Order: sequence, then structure tokens, then C-alpha cells
Amino acid sequence: MAKKQFKAESKRLLDLMINSIYTHREIFLRELISNASDATDKRYYNAMSRGESGLDRASLSIDISLDKENRIITISDHGCGMNDKELEENLGVIAKSGSLAFKQEKEKMEDVDIIGQFGVGFYAAFMVSSNVRVESRADGSDTAFSWESNGADGYTISPCEKSEIGTKIILTLKENTEDENYDEFLEPLRISSLVRKYSDYIRYPIKMDMERRQLKEGSESEYETVIVNEVLNSMIPIWKKSRSEITEEEYSEFYQTKFHDYEAPARTIHSSTEGAVSYTALMFIPANTPYDYYTRDYEKGLALYTNGVMIMEKCPDLLPDYFSFVRGLIDSQDLSLNISREMLQHDRQLRVIATSIEKKIRNELLNMLNNDRDNYEKFFEKFGRQLKFGVYDGFGQNKDKLADLLLFKSSTEEKGVTLKEYVSRMKEEQKFIYFVSGESVAKLENLPQTEMVKARGMEILYLTQDVDEFALRMMREYDGKEFKSVTDGDLGLETEEEKEQIKNLTDANEELIKAIKEALSGKVADVRLSNRLNTCPVCFTTEGGISTSMEKVLNAMPNSETVRANRILEINAEHKVFEALKASLGEDKIKTYAELLYTQAELIEGILPEDPVAFSRAICDLM
Ligand code: ADP
Repeated sequence: MAKKQFKAESKRLLDLMINSIYTHREIFLRELISNASDATDKRYYNAMSRGESGLDRASLSIDISLDKENRIITISDHGCGMNDKELEENLGVIAKSGSLAFKQEKEKMEDVDIIGQFGVGFYAAFMVSSNVRVESRADGSDTAFSWESNGADGYTISPCEKSEIGTKIILTLKENTEDENYDEFLEPLRISSLVRKYSDYIRYPIKMDMERRQLKEGSESEYETVIVNEVLNSMIPIWKKSRSEITEEEYSEFYQTKFHDYEAPARTIHSSTEGAVSYTALMFIPANTPYDYYTRDYEKGLALYTNGVMIMEKCPDLLPDYFSFVRGLIDSQDLSLNISREMLQHDRQLRVIATSIEKKIRNELLNMLNNDRDNYEKFFEKFGRQLKFGVYDGFGQNKDKLADLLLFKSSTEEKGVTLKEYVSRMKEEQKFIYFVSGESVAKLENLPQTEMVKARGMEILYLTQDVDEFALRMMREYDGKEFKSVTDGDLGLETEEEKEQIKNLTDANEELIKAIKEALSGKVADVRLSNRLNTCPVCFTTEGGISTSMEKVLNAMPNSETVRANRILEINAEHKVFEALKASLGEDKIKTYAELLYTQAELIEGILPEDPVAFSRAICDLM
């Protein structure tokens, strides 16, 4: 049988496994048992949905046996098994669990130790084994196949004998070296304590032969050693235990194994709900963004169990998109097992559960925001963007649920500000919630358009993410206060007197304004004199729903039509440049001046001039 090579990325992970001098190598057992349990779930579910009732869960045991002499550990299950094609697909290539993307990052840091903290799956077997043989017979098939590999130089697949459906993993332990000793994994007591530590909640009996000393029959003082095939795990899933019985470490261990994370979750939500539909939820808010979170590959959803049997690995309907980062599971007796997966989508009970867990997640986040602010800020850095998308999505239908969860930077606070906090600090005469959007806080700090609002001692929200301004404009208002961009034409800040003053100035310079407008025709919707600027000669403001920063975002999207904000060029009537403009009225150079000011306003907004060469030539001419 010809040897097949591992796919490149699988090989890298494998190398890492084989060569790791690694203190958490014991987790290989947890990984293999977890796979066996998943496969058994699958077989059980398939049988139930075919309407078979012959399968007894107690008989679906996972069996471990140890052969000290030959240094062999065997782990067998009665799960769904794999045919030759599946062996190839599942074990020749690393699973989609995302372990690898993470690993590549960490490899550079040479921190191999971190592997043990999260799921690495089947390949973990190579941390302790010199040879791994898998014998498997798929459910519904009468032929069995083996997969065998001693690591780096590939694997073989060939037919084999196996009487029962399921999978048998046969590990040949590595030989001991001066630095490494593997003998512990041949000790029944050590194995049974590992099972209790990592796999206690597995809902199938994990059995192994144990030596027990017991009184000899008929004797009151003489003992003998007998072999008893014992169940090692309690089989109570962690979510069925009461919260007071579970330590943080246990929650974290469960989460990391199940959801392949290398860090403990930021928050754990564990609750049982009785009512129209009764269910238990165990959910986690990750401390980290999964590597594919903001890509199309990320699949949201919670695992769905009924009576302890998993019926769906990721049920997307249980989570709204804006909470798609939540991982976890729901267990409910009220869902019928025979329901087909497509039908699930329309299940009324499922909708009841979805609504109720959405509330729970929101409450947990609010709780974190109010009582654990530092961690909430960290959370928001990772997932805030998703919440803001949620505000915008679906024409804002969920904005009220999400508004209080948002954080923004502002002109007065370095840390995040909630809308509630902003409103509580508003000046008495302040009508609007002011914001400005741009690339970074540093750039926004210096934006001339902010000067007038700041001068009045009012706070400005700094929006630095693409989605921010779209979200705010979708919300329109918070607590009865409208949002207003400081680049809007009318900020509602001028006194009657100031308005009058500008009007007079405008009337007096009608000719000049007309000339500039003509020079910039097609580029700006209007040219106005302004008193909002202190030090800067010009700026853009916009009218209508689209600002220049939204214009940038919209135009960066693929396949979108070109959008243009309604730009208004505001000229600082108190700036020296204005005098120069006045003096040039009637001359040709007014055109050049107008162009230059327009380009300046563009640069302030971070927009590159269409013709940078012409711009630089114009400046040179002037000098
Ligand atoms: P993961 O469990 O994260 O998917 P693994 O590398 O551990 O990744 O396993 C890859 C795949 O191999 C699994 O998704 C499963 O389809 C299959 N598999 C592994 N172990 C078994 C088993 N004992 N029985 C049936 N299928 C298995």
C-alpha cells in the first residue's frame, strides 16, 4: 500500500506535535475521548432519526485498554465510524477547527506550551505515540478500513477486519528517552484520573479494567486482587450540574476543549429556565476574537441538545447576528428529537428559546458594562464592531436593544463612553449629541470642524470605525437627543446675532462667493462664509445624509455605485486668506485660489487631490 503524504498544513501541525516537549501532553486522551463521544452522538442521532429504537445508550461505551508489555493504549467507541474516504478526508487533513491558523501565529513565538490549552484534535495522539493506527467501520457498512501512520512520513489506508461498527484507536507509546518518560500512560490509575479530570461529563460510559483488592469470598481477613471493568466518569454533563458545584476552572476547561480556544472565556452564562419551554443554557463570551470571526467562514450558532443528545452542532437560529460571537449550547427536553434539521428552523419552541437567550446575553453584557468596566472595554474592542453592525442591520430594527451596549471614544474621555454617559454630561443648552468620524482619534482631535463645538465646552463622540457613522445615523437619536455630525452645515450653535453677522458678511461679498462657486462648479454644492473656524481658512461641511467619511466607506465597497457627499466649502471670514481672496476678485488668479482652498479642505478630510501634480504646481507658482 503506497504511503500518502499529509497536506502541507497538516504536516506542520503534526511536526509540532511530534516534536513538542510538552507538559500538557496528557490532553491527547481528552481529545480522543471527545472525538469518540462526538462520533457516538452522531450514530445515536442517526439511528433515532431513522426511527430505530434498538440502540441503548448504556451499551455505547467508550472502552480504554492498556497493554503494558507492548506499550499500547487502545480507545474504542461504538460511534458512527469512518469509511476509507472519510479516513482520508478527516485524518489526512487538519480539521477546520482553526487550530492551525492560531498555531502559525504562536509558532513564531516559540511558545509550544500553549497547545495544550485548547483543542488540537486527533493529531494530539502524536505527542505520545510513535505509531497511530485507526481501525474503523462506518455505520451501515460491512467493510472496515485502517489508517496508520508513524508521523511525519505519511499514512496508509487499507482494508481490515472489524466486527463491530465504530472506531478503534491504537496508540503505540513512544520509547522513553533521557528527558521524556511515557510510562505513566500505561498506569490504570493515572488514566482513570485523567478521565475524571478532563472527560467526566462525557455522556457515555468510559470503561476500563481496574485492579481492585477485595475480600476473598467466604473469608473475613484474606484479600485478593480482581479485575473489574469500571465506569470511570460520572456522565453528568457539566451543564446539568448546579452552578455552585462547578469551579471556574471546570467551566473554562470545558469551554476550551469544546470550542477550541486557548484562553478562558471572558464570561460564562449558565442558567436553567422553566416556562412555556424549559431549557438549560451554557454560553460563553470569548475573550478573543476567533481568527475567522470577521470573515464569511465564521459560522455562528449554539449546539442543540435534547435530553442530553446532541441534535445539532451549530444551530444558527438560536443567535442573532450581533451576538454571533457567543459560543455554547442549549439543552431542552421540549424539543422533539425526530424533528428534521430543516424543520428546526421553523420550530416555535426554538424561537421562544432564541428570544429568551438573547435577553440573557444582553443582560450579561450590561452587567459586565456596569460592574466590570475594564473587561467590558476589552470585550468591546473585540466584538463592538459586530454590535454596531447590529444597530445598522435590518434597517435598525434592533437598535433599541443595542444602543446601551455601545462605547465610543470622545473629545473628553480617553476610554469608551456610553451614550447614556454622554447624555448625562450634556450642557443645558445643548440640543444635539455631536460626533465626528475619521481614521483615528489623533486626526479627529485636530479637525477644524470640531473647534466650534469644543469651544462651547461640549463633548464630541469620536467615531473611528467604518460602521460607526452608519450606525448612529440609523439610530437618529438617543434618549430624545438627535445625533449631529460636527461637519453638518447647521450645528444649531450660532446665536441670532452671529447668524445675522454672517448674513451681512455674505451679502457684502456676494460677488466674491459667486466667483468662487463658479470656479468650483461641479465640485461643491455651495460656498459659504463661516464663523465656526478658528485657525483654519477653510473646511468642508455636508448637507444631506452622507458625510465625506461615509462617502469614503461607501466607495470602498465592491460593486457599489459611486457616491458623493454634498460638499459645502466653508471659508473662514476672519482668516487672512479671506482678505487675499477679496483682493483677487476680478482677476484670473481667483480660480487658482479657489482650487487651492478646495484641495486644502480635501486634505483636511484625508482625501487625496485628484490631480496632486496640478496642486503642487499651483503652490509653486504662488510662491
Ligand atoms: P475535530 O474533532 O476538531 O473536528 P479532529 O482532528 O480531532 O478534529 O478530527 C477530525 C475528524 O475526524 C472529526 O471531525 C471526525 O469527523 C473524524 N473523527 C475523529 N475521530 C473519530 C472517531 N472516533 N469516530 C468517527 N470519526 C472521527
